[in-house]
Amino acid sequence: MKNISRTVTLYCPKCGGSAFKSLEQLECSLNEAPGDTKIKCCNCNFNCLKLELIDTNKEVIDANIKEVKKEAIKEIKQEILKVLKRR
Ligand SMILES: [Zn+2]
Repeated sequence: MKNISRTVTLYCPKCGGSAFKSLEQLECSLNEAPGDTKIKCCNCNFNCLKLELIDTNKEVIDANIKEVKKEAIKEIKQEILKVLKRR
């Protein structure tokens, strides 16, 4: 069976960096590590639990989705207006 890996990019709440390493020895990749794994930002050394980082990032992800939706609605509106003007 093929190993399907989902890559979740998490961002450091302090510096915005996306490179993290584990403070513990891991037998799997950081993506598969449990939520209580202590991780550290490679850029600013900010450390927290993987779970906490995911939680922080959820807000960021939600905000991003809202932004994307807003942009999409704007574009659709513009497209509709263009079409209407052609008539
Ligand atoms: Zn950082």
